[in-house]
Amino acid sequence: LSDRLQAVFQKLGGKGKLTEEDVREAMKQVRIALLEADVNLKVVREFVARVTEKAVGEEVTKSLTPAQQVIKIVHQELIDLLGQANVPLAEARPGPTIIMLIGLQGSGKTTTAAKLALWLRKKGKRPLLVAADIYRPAAITQLESLGRQLGIPVHSEGAQSRPPDIARNAVRRARDESITHVIIDTAGRLQIDEPLMVELEQINAAVEPVERLLVVDAMIGQEAVRVAEEFNRRVGLTGIIFTKIDGDARGGAALSVRAVTGVPIKFLGSGEKVEASTIEPFHPDRLASRILGMGDVLSLIERAEAIYDEEQARKMQKKLVKGSFDFEDFLASMQQMRKLGPLQQILGMIPGLDKLAREEIITEKDLKKIEAIIFSMTKEERRNPDLIKGRRKERIARGSGTQVQEVTQLVNQFRQMQRMMKRMGGKGGIDPRELMRR
Ligand code: GDP
Ligand code: MG
Repeated sequence: LSDRLQAVFQKLGGKGKLTEEDVREAMKQVRIALLEADVNLKVVREFVARVTEKAVGEEVTKSLTPAQQVIKIVHQELIDLLGQANVPLAEARPGPTIIMLIGLQGSGKTTTAAKLALWLRKKGKRPLLVAADIYRPAAITQLESLGRQLGIPVHSEGAQSRPPDIARNAVRRARDESITHVIIDTAGRLQIDEPLMVELEQINAAVEPVERLLVVDAMIGQEAVRVAEEFNRRVGLTGIIFTKIDGDARGGAALSVRAVTGVPIKFLGSGEKVEASTIEPFHPDRLASRILGMGDVLSLIERAEAIYDEEQARKMQKKLVKGSFDFEDFLASMQQMRKLGPLQQILGMIPGLDKLAREEIITEKDLKKIEAIIFSMTKEERRNPDLIKGRRKERIARGSGTQVQEVTQLVNQFRQMQRMMKRMGGKGGIDPRELMRR
């Protein structure tokens, strides 16, 4: 997305308000990004309409460019749409809390059951895993072996009993053994089919799980919406767990499923290994950045906002227009920019300027040199660069460990920039490239 938005970034000048046209242009790109991330078309349409309505007429704050502002609104809306962070698991009182995991075959139910059990134990709970997928013999041994590995009890009755009975027996056993959470690993099918749905309804009726969590492979994309709708209709989902987010799926499916069903996303799973770190409560911000495909730009926007001093910026702008912008001011703006982080990193995050960083057109060393030269000037000289001649130049060069011609170059370029700024009426701010052009 960043690449494409770059063009839009450039077109949006320094206007005071976001016009409908600005927003429409940016939305075109956002729309493509969302579709590429596998977000459902209908969801994309509604989303774009809502953001457009919000963004048009919005004041552009001084710390952001109009395009950055649009992105910020898009990001915030995505977060809202993805829903709340950290929606807790329901707790049954009296216990045990019964959790049923459901989903298609291969979605990661068995793995997630074990991850969830581990996560609960870390919180001081006593989980019991239940092998209710009796159709694939391997499924039972898979769960048993995971339980052994983690030291978590597994209730299994082989393939002879019926899943609703297994679940009922497991809950009875849980009461006897003061288990706090019963996690039922159910069978999946390659596709939704009637016998499976009926079985899930029977387990539902037999033990009334307070949590009916749909496990969805993030990689299945668009298909996820239909799957989620169907399971929700039959068993009433209480939450969704997206797995395999370590894959290269951009996560658009999560957005679609949440938007269409309204069921909260409760956990994200990543990695084949069953470890505490491979399941985590859902936080929408990171997924929103991933869907937009521009995490770095967003973090830069956040930092710029946090650090940018509007008051100071207004003063600078005034000085630029009047042509009274001096080396003191230049030093101050340079230091303000440096607060954002190391130069290469900052440039690298800005679409359009990332090339400067990659090709090392401006390096940290150049900036340090400029700073050193300015530091070696007296206050008077900084305020009035015209003073910097002959002897003074030599002194500054010695003081900053540079060559006289480097001092000359900086002073000349600074003057040139002052003139240009004055001519342009202060538009555009300071471009460090102007000072370093050889
Ligand atoms: P089930 O059929 O729904 O029970 O799915 P399984 O738990 O057996 O998982 C199917 C496959 O997906 C296995 O090879 C798992 O190791 C793998 N898997 C499950 N969760 C994840 C995950 O979050 N990331 C990755 N990369 N693989 C996963
Ligand atoms: Mg399984």
